[in-house]
Amino acid sequence: MVSGLPEYLDGRLWTAGKPLVAEVPASALRRVSAPFRTVGSYAVDLHPVTDEFGRRWLKGTISGRVRGICQRCLEDAEIPVQAQVDYACVKSEAQGREFEPDHDYLLMTDEDKVPLLDLIEDEILLALPMIPRHSEEDCAPANVAEAAPVVEETDRKPFADLADLLKKQE
Ligand SMILES: [Zn+2]
Repeated sequence: MVSGLPEYLDGRLWTAGKPLVAEVPASALRRVSAPFRTVGSYAVDLHPVTDEFGRRWLKGTISGRVRGICQRCLEDAEIPVQAQVDYACVKSEAQGREFEPDHDYLLMTDEDKVPLLDLIEDEILLALPMIPRHSEEDCAPANVAEAAPVVEETDRKPFADLADLLKKQE
């Protein structure tokens, strides 16, 4: 349980119409795994909205950060994660299909409740990039620039020494 968040999505949330605002600690999320790790907390801002046709929607954002080894510079990278949530909330598959392909739907029956924390974690997983990587501007260019000359230097040294040696012998 995360304070400020109900355990399940159910119809009462739409009757109340109040936004679900909470900070979900990284420790509450168990399915984000290597090469990523969760850090800090995730800001959840979800709005149960009823439109003019009486249809129920869940809209909002989930944002936070993950860390992982950048596959470009091999330094630890902090990667922002932002999920946009926009679901039609329906009581049957048939009703859900009416929203496709323009909208994803969430099936919310009385028997089959949607655990909110699972939904939040799913959204974070979907928002992860394929591999951990800094943004272009944050990627440590110093390390990349330094790495190249070091390799060159070690390659060249034996020849420099050889040249010195030949000079001495002359
Ligand atoms: Zn990088």
